[in-house]
Amino acid sequence: MYSVAILGATGAVGGEFLRLFEQRRFPVSSLRLLASERSAGKRLVFQGKEVAVEAVGPRSFEGVEYAFFSAGASRSREFAPFAIDAGATVIDNSSAFRMDANVPLVIPEINGQAMTAESKLVAVPNCSAIVLLMAVAPLRSLGKIERIIVSTYQSASGGGAAMMQRLVDETRDALDPNTQHPTPTNLPPYAFNLFSHNTPINEHGYNEEEWKVIHESRKILGMPELKINITCIRVPVLRAHSESITVEFGTPLSTMPVRGEGAGGGEAIEDAVRRVLSEARGVRVVDDRPGNNFPTPLEASGQEDVLVGRIRRDVSHPSAISLFASGDQLLKGAALNAVQIAEELIKMRSAVSVG
Ligand code: NAP
Repeated sequence: MYSVAILGATGAVGGEFLRLFEQRRFPVSSLRLLASERSAGKRLVFQGKEVAVEAVGPRSFEGVEYAFFSAGASRSREFAPFAIDAGATVIDNSSAFRMDANVPLVIPEINGQAMTAESKLVAVPNCSAIVLLMAVAPLRSLGKIERIIVSTYQSASGGGAAMMQRLVDETRDALDPNTQHPTPTNLPPYAFNLFSHNTPINEHGYNEEEWKVIHESRKILGMPELKINITCIRVPVLRAHSESITVEFGTPLSTMPVRGEGAGGGEAIEDAVRRVLSEARGVRVVDDRPGNNFPTPLEASGQEDVLVGRIRRDVSHPSAISLFASGDQLLKGAALNAVQIAEELIKMRSAVSVG
C-alpha cells in the first residue's frame, strides 16, 4: 500500500484519478488531495469517505510515495523538485518535462521500457499524441512508418473543467434566449461551432498542441525523423478526442507480408491492420462497414480503450492506409495512462526487490 498525492485533485483529470484508484484497486494507504488556495477545505469523496483538499505548498509531499501531478506545467515545474526531494515518484500530466531528454515520456503499451525501477519522474504525453499513437504504433509490425497525417476533433474536456462548463453554458444560451451566461472573450463562440486549437501559433504556423504531438510522438516512438503533419481543431463535444489519421509506409502495401490468403494488397492489408489492432493492448476495433458503425467520442467516453475504425486503403497513395480513432483523453489521454505508469513502476520495483 502506498501513500499517494494528487496535485490538481479538483480538476477534470483529478476527478478521474479518484475513480480510477477505486476501480483498479490501486493500493492507496493514504491520500492527499492538493489544489490551489481556491479549493482549500473543499471535500471530495474517496472510498466512501470525505477527504479535505489542501492548498499545495513545498511541504505537501512529505511522506508521499506516488505523486500524480495534474495542475498545469508551471505548478509541475515549481513543485516536482519538492516532491522528488521528499522521496516521492512524480508522474506528471503536464507538458513541463515531456521533452527533457532525461525524463521518460511513456505510454506503457508502447514504450514502457523507457522507464526503469529507478525513475523518479515520468511524464505522461499530450492527450492527442496518446490517442494517435495507440492507433498507429501497433502498425509498425506491418512495415516502416514514413509519415503520418492527422486531423483532430478535440473535445471541451481537453481544456479542463472550465471549458466543459463553458460549452454547456453556451449551448444552453444558444437554445434558450432566457439563459445568458457571461461570455469570456478568450475563445471563439463554442456552441454549434468549431475552431483551431486555442494555443499560440509558432513561426511555422503550427499551434502549440500540434507541435507537441509532432515532437512527443517522435520521442515516444524513438523515430526522430518521423514526418508528421497535423491540424488540431476543437469541436463542441464534451468528452473524448477523435482523430482522422493517414499512415504512409515506406513500402507499397502490395508488398507487405500479411498473413492468410491473398497475402499482399487488396483486402488482405485491411484485414492485417484489423488483426494487428485487435491484438493491441488498449485498443478496440470498431469497424462495421455494413452498419456504418465506427468510433465516436460518445462511445469512447468513459472507456479505457481507444476505439479505432474506418480502416481502409488510401486510394490516393500506394503505401498509405487511413483510420479514425476516438479515445477518452481524460482517461487514456491523462489519468489512466498516469495510473498505468505507476502500476508498471510498482511491478518493476517489486521485481527488483524480490530479485
Ligand atoms: P482543470 O480542470 O482546469 O483543473 C486544473 C487543476 O489544477 C485544478 O485542480 C486546479 O485547482 C489546479 N490548479 C490550478 N492552478 C493551481 C495553482 N496555482 N496551485 C495549485 N493547483 C492549481 O484542468 P485539467 O483538464 O484537469 O488539466 C490538468 C492538467 O492535466 C494540465 O496540466 C493539463 O495540461 C493536463 N492534461 C489535461 C488533459 C485533459 O484532457 N484535460 C489531458 C492531458 C493532460 P483549483 O480547483 O483550486 O483551481
